[in-house]
Amino acid sequence: MQKEEFNYRCRELSAGLDFQLTKYVLDTVQEHRKSKSAGKLPVIWIETSDSGDNNIAFMNTTYPYLGQVLSGLIDLLYSNTFMAAQGKDALNILEQAATELRGKFTLVVEGAVPLKDNGLYTVIARTENYSLTARDVLTWLGPLAKYVVALGTCASFGGVSAARPNVAGSVGVRDVLKREVINVSGCPVNPDWFVGTLAHLLLFGAPELDSLNRPALFYGFTVHRHCQRRSYFDQGHFAEKLGDLECMFSLGCVGPRTGADCPYRQWINHVNWPVRANTPCIGCTNEDFPDGSSPFFTPLPEKNPPPHEEQPAASKGGAKGE
Ligand code: SF4
Repeated sequence: MQKEEFNYRCRELSAGLDFQLTKYVLDTVQEHRKSKSAGKLPVIWIETSDSGDNNIAFMNTTYPYLGQVLSGLIDLLYSNTFMAAQGKDALNILEQAATELRGKFTLVVEGAVPLKDNGLYTVIARTENYSLTARDVLTWLGPLAKYVVALGTCASFGGVSAARPNVAGSVGVRDVLKREVINVSGCPVNPDWFVGTLAHLLLFGAPELDSLNRPALFYGFTVHRHCQRRSYFDQGHFAEKLGDLECMFSLGCVGPRTGADCPYRQWINHVNWPVRANTPCIGCTNEDFPDGSSPFFTPLPEKNPPPHEEQPAASKGGAKGE
């Protein structure tokens, strides 16, 4: 399968009746691996400062299911969440994987990176001699990886971990590493966005990215563009309270400046998404989430302005509007 067809399938097929967007991903990967005698995508997954929501979302992947992803798509070499090994054994596995697959593995980072007090607010491993902080691990593994994927909004941009007053001085991975970081943002991420990105890396290398370094095939358009309530917005019919059928811009929806394909990809095995479930989009994929979206139920012009002038506004984001 050519890259264009793969991208088309990832982008468009969720609009089909069966919603089996990524059903084709695994078949494509298997064909590719067979024809090239290629292995799975080697992955080292580091969880740092976050709520663990992205690994839970990942476990909810369907078409392919989690077991199929692990057996057919990625070789999960290290994960402080999913692996059975603990303590020194786990650290040995990490060192061995990083050494043997130098320049070949994909580094997935889930969570923000605390910088204050030498990063001591997130320690990945402790030995008799030292504490290995999230920042230490990133500066060690980042230059050795073939690709770096920031999974979730905390890893991508700081997210909730870096929300005001950001007591731990948390930042996104891009602020620690001087190299390209592929941001797969979301709080949590839709499993399709993550699994689709991993498949793209294995099949074709890095995907086309938007101005926030997110794969354009998932984040290229705003939520507002495909929202089921868009006709109400265009006609100026706005909800007065939750539960009303009209557009929820009046109730704080930030869909017009949020890049994501939630309206047609949907969540939980492609069943539903916030606006369809009668709650406004809170812009969880945005660069300034959550501060730029709060208070969540206040309309856009009155939401909190960015605290510092230098903080980038989410409206800079890479999604195409309308
Ligand atoms: S403002 Fe929100 S609810 Fe209204 S059309 Fe846009 S995305 Fe949908």
